[in-house]
Amino acid sequence: MGEDDLREYRAKRDFRKTSEPRGGESRRDGDAPRFVIQHHEASTDHYDLRLEVGGVLKSWAVPKGPSTDPSDKRLAMPTEDHPMDYRDFEGTISAGEYGAGTVLVWDTGTYENRTRHKGAEQSMSDGLERGHVSVWLHGEKLTGGYALTRFRTGKDEAWLLVKERDDRAGGGDPVRDEPDSALTGRDMEQVAEEGDRL
Ligand code: MN
Repeated sequence: MGEDDLREYRAKRDFRKTSEPRGGESRRDGDAPRFVIQHHEASTDHYDLRLEVGGVLKSWAVPKGPSTDPSDKRLAMPTEDHPMDYRDFEGTISAGEYGAGTVLVWDTGTYENRTRHKGAEQSMSDGLERGHVSVWLHGEKLTGGYALTRFRTGKDEAWLLVKERDDRAGGGDPVRDEPDSALTGRDMEQVAEEGDRL
């Protein structure tokens, strides 16, 4: 389940040189699907949004991070699928390795799929294929509906991440005001100094 999807993830990394997980955690059917948003201080600072779908973490790099304001459209560039155990990864990817820089678990939790197409419920995989999903996040920082919509296909495939209009909209700017790890409470500097979770 999802193993083939991790080929690109593994091909990009040398697991003797990075402490990132190789992947292998199995998940039980019926567990609520997980999401994570990792703040990644790489050559370009960004936030990685990852949603559990079919045994892997479907991933997008969001340069500005999520907004709680429905009028903000946040660019989300798709990246390779990541293994489930990546959702707990905090630490520094060494200089010279793929994605070099420090990673902090900015938000984590479960989500509900609320994707609909022509009035009918739609699976996450069908929605992603079609280019639109709607999820309700139950995070430590983010809650409420978020939509991901593809606006460009092909080599430069690109999506938009937008807060939906619900009673959780307009919750301030957590990217600015709540920068610390949702997992360990550490700030970026501490994660950079201490590495993997203690
Ligand atoms: Mn990244």
